[in-house]
Amino acid sequence: MVSVLDTRDAAALRHPEKANRPDTPWLPKPPWLRIRLSNGGELASTHSVVRSHGLTTVCEEAACPNLGECWSKRHATMMIMGDTCTRACGFCNVRTGRPGPLDPSEPQNVAAAVAELGLRHVVITSVDRDDLDDGGAEHFHQTIQAIRARCPDTTIEILTPDFLRKDGALERVAAARPDVFNHNLETVPSLYLKIRPGARYFHSLRLLQRVKELDSNVFTKSGIMLGLGETYDEVLQVMDDLRSADVDFLTIGQYLQPTPKHAAIARYVPPEEFESFRRIGLSKGFLLVAASPLTRSSYHADEDFARLRAARTTAATPR
Ligand code: SF4
Repeated sequence: MVSVLDTRDAAALRHPEKANRPDTPWLPKPPWLRIRLSNGGELASTHSVVRSHGLTTVCEEAACPNLGECWSKRHATMMIMGDTCTRACGFCNVRTGRPGPLDPSEPQNVAAAVAELGLRHVVITSVDRDDLDDGGAEHFHQTIQAIRARCPDTTIEILTPDFLRKDGALERVAAARPDVFNHNLETVPSLYLKIRPGARYFHSLRLLQRVKELDSNVFTKSGIMLGLGETYDEVLQVMDDLRSADVDFLTIGQYLQPTPKHAAIARYVPPEEFESFRRIGLSKGFLLVAASPLTRSSYHADEDFARLRAARTTAATPR
């Protein structure tokens, strides 16, 4: 059994910058967030493929509540460029600190794992690498190319950092022509200082807009979490901002607090409210909106990609 002390020690080890913060209050989970654990399907096999290729997954590092479900269907989201992030966001469970050097064999290892898992659609994300001159853009480029070469029928979705102050990085990643380019806004602008202090809201928005300007065929995607203290109107404003940047797909999920040192949960948003945001988002012109308490960027990404393509075809068909 894991004691509170063990949890705090683990938090301090993974997030040294948060170690001396006071604990935030813990809000008990509502019934709709009780997660069914799954040990079945292909879970063990997914674990073994990931380990045998020496890969890191965001599913594990972010302590994702959907891991049992996704891995039992062989859907794992690879996190490239190490397990240590140079940012220290208030919501994120990924380890923070000084990362090690890039592994030049990682692009090929990711491609081999994608082939072994037999993925039709893969999501690749990364830690922030502010320490690298290009923010890791070349590594993203090479990973996309390696997957294309090994699994030409697999569609590729990337979830990238913001490449803040990394001139030319975005262009290098976009040149590898992923099918979906995702960059999460994470929260509303008024909460950036608290939740995403190293990022800039308008830079992230501009990044998404620029991706579409560089290649109008790419699907663009972004996501936010609810329950951090944002207001209803602020959520609608983020939707409008994303539509102004021509973003196609929006994901909205409930923020879950990884440790008592992370940002507190202001409230649990009920499923009906998510459904209402989903409808509003569609009415604002997104091709697709996934909104539910357990929605995450890569949750059901395979099925959602098929829906996204179908929605674009429908939108382009004259009535
Ligand atoms: S939702 Fe995404 S991060 Fe979570 S387990 Fe599924 S694939 Fe991994």
